[in-house]
Amino acid sequence: MNNSLPSIMSKNITSQQDHPSSSNNNNPPHQLSRYESQKRRDWNTFGQYLKNQRPPVSLSQCNCNHVLEFMRYLDQFGKTKVHMHGCVFFGQPDPPAPCTCPLRQAWGSLDALIGRLRAAYEEHGGSAETNPFGNGAIRIYLREVKESQSKARGIPYKKKKKKKISHNSVQDGNLNQILKNPNQPSLLN
Ligand SMILES: [Zn+2]
Repeated sequence: MNNSLPSIMSKNITSQQDHPSSSNNNNPPHQLSRYESQKRRDWNTFGQYLKNQRPPVSLSQCNCNHVLEFMRYLDQFGKTKVHMHGCVFFGQPDPPAPCTCPLRQAWGSLDALIGRLRAAYEEHGGSAETNPFGNGAIRIYLREVKESQSKARGIPYKKKKKKKISHNSVQDGNLNQILKNPNQPSLLN
């Protein structure tokens, strides 16, 4: 198992020795993380969406209504079956047969998308105060999508419980400190 205590400790110690301060600056700019490249793709898609409006919408004109329309527009590319109220499978997490209910964007995907676009908006010079992705209307819309999808799909979206600090992680930290400290004086001697 990779989770065993010694491997975690040795990993921490070596990484601290290799990168004494922040390692962020060592990353070449063209190597984007998955999150960063996804954010860039989302931002381009949204920009294209605004351009395709009649008349085209500039970023400075963009408000929360454009964002709401964008989310509804994305539903046509969704892959999540959300049962209608009249469907016999309404509320069933695992329906035994197909039905004609529409496919939608899953709430979790929209929620993550909005988070990325909200960050991208400010990275492209938008102010936090007028950020349309941070607007209360977006939060309300996402909450409604979440509640209706959890009812229709019979899948409750449980809040992830915060991991309590386990005995193991406390011990890891202590052991790391204990192991680190004796090394340092010996380097000086
Ligand atoms: Zn259905």
